[in-house]
Amino acid sequence: MSSSFDPSGLHTELFIDGVWQKAASGATFPVENPATHEIIAHVADGGPEEAGAAIEAAGRAQAEWSKSTPRKRADILRRAFDLVIANTDRLAAIMTAEMGKPLAEAKGEVAYGAEFLRWFSEEATRIGGDSTTSVDGNTRILITKEPVGPCVLVTPWNFPLAMGARKIAPAVAAGCTMVFKPAELTPLTSLALVDIFKQAGLPDGVLNVVTTSNAASVVENWMSSGIARKISFTGSTGVGKILLRQASENVMRSSMELGGNAPFIVLADADIEKAVDGAMKAKMRNMGEACTAANRFFVHRSVAEEFTEKFSKKMSELQVGNGALAGTDVGPLIEQKGLDKVESLVADAVAKGARVLTGGSRPEGPGYFYSPTVMTDVALNSDLMTTEIFGPVAAITPFDSEDEVLRMANDTEWGLVGYVFTENTDKALRFSAELEVGMVGINTGIVSNPIAPFGGVKQSGLGREGGKAGIDEFLETKYTAIAI
Ligand code: ADP
Repeated sequence: MSSSFDPSGLHTELFIDGVWQKAASGATFPVENPATHEIIAHVADGGPEEAGAAIEAAGRAQAEWSKSTPRKRADILRRAFDLVIANTDRLAAIMTAEMGKPLAEAKGEVAYGAEFLRWFSEEATRIGGDSTTSVDGNTRILITKEPVGPCVLVTPWNFPLAMGARKIAPAVAAGCTMVFKPAELTPLTSLALVDIFKQAGLPDGVLNVVTTSNAASVVENWMSSGIARKISFTGSTGVGKILLRQASENVMRSSMELGGNAPFIVLADADIEKAVDGAMKAKMRNMGEACTAANRFFVHRSVAEEFTEKFSKKMSELQVGNGALAGTDVGPLIEQKGLDKVESLVADAVAKGARVLTGGSRPEGPGYFYSPTVMTDVALNSDLMTTEIFGPVAAITPFDSEDEVLRMANDTEWGLVGYVFTENTDKALRFSAELEVGMVGINTGIVSNPIAPFGGVKQSGLGREGGKAGIDEFLETKYTAIAI
């Protein structure tokens, strides 16, 4: 199967109650290829009317879907996994065309996203419960799990397949129905994934999708519907707070995967080759457009020069270009706004005394490209250190003591992930314990894993996705007291 983008088979409509349909108004919005500025599709632009139809369909489908057997849900997920894998090249080509990441990374995301479907197909049959007897022996206590109910799913553009799969799979496994709003910048991959669920036999009304150019109008409709029982959101902390306020009105269960400001710490005893390799992955995966991206590099002064030199060399060797072309390591950023933000963060750091070792500029257009950049002597009060960069820029700050670096690393309102490089297990465990984050990478630049609980503390979010914790987010606990 070819990896080139083929617009002929794309789904571009809303999917409500099992039926692909246009917006009632006939409105559409364009989807742009960020490497070329070409408009690759026009997608149905849903509004409150379609949002209402979608949440009502999810509400109607919930009762029967709750009673579906674990085996049926597992089989649907397993078929969806097989179909995603069989369609790897087509899905990767769509993702690269609408989002920009190089094809090899897009294929990696297909494998990663698919694994959520397989893992939760297995978990669907193992939800279980518990039972015990009261201490006075008079009551049998039966603990069961039930689906939360209709869920609102809202996803970002940076991992168009995996972010949807990570929410849809546990919701299906738990027996929840869904209304899903993918990011307006990358709706095509999500629509292709939804079609796969239809082919896999998901009943009508269980998964409904509304694409829109006006996210607030659709999602607010769902949040205030009184039908939705849960919101699962991945995106910026600012929008997460808006949704938490809306969730409070109907006291909805809330899972929030929000921003990050990951520290990447290289201790004096680190293996520098490993640290450089980890830095390339933690910084450059997805062009730096990941909430797990290393945002602040703290390197012990005794190894700072060696690390910086080797890391800068590797960064300068990366091939920037259209992700659909062979040999490309780094694709474009998603949009002009992202590019402007990266440019202004670099300018601010330079104004505050930072030195640019490599990159620091945007190559000739078209495309929202920015050169892989390494900066050193970055002042702690630079915007680069306090903002989620979401671009291929690494800011390196030397440190002298472990207490000092822990203080700097934790001096942020975010707490998603931290990376630590050391050959000393005691130090690794100390840093793992003392970093205020939900995830820690020791001698690795990648923590995302479908069978591990992904999530953050502080303003990086609430709840976990993936692993055993991932399905609990979609389950309620019921306890029944039975007199003996
Ligand atoms: P990013 O900055 O990564 O684009 P956003 O938080 O803006 O992150 O977007 C993540 C998702 O949230 C997208 O699907 C977007 O359409 C949606 N979104 C943006 N604003 C709102 C809003 N006010 N209400 C609900 N969803 C929103």
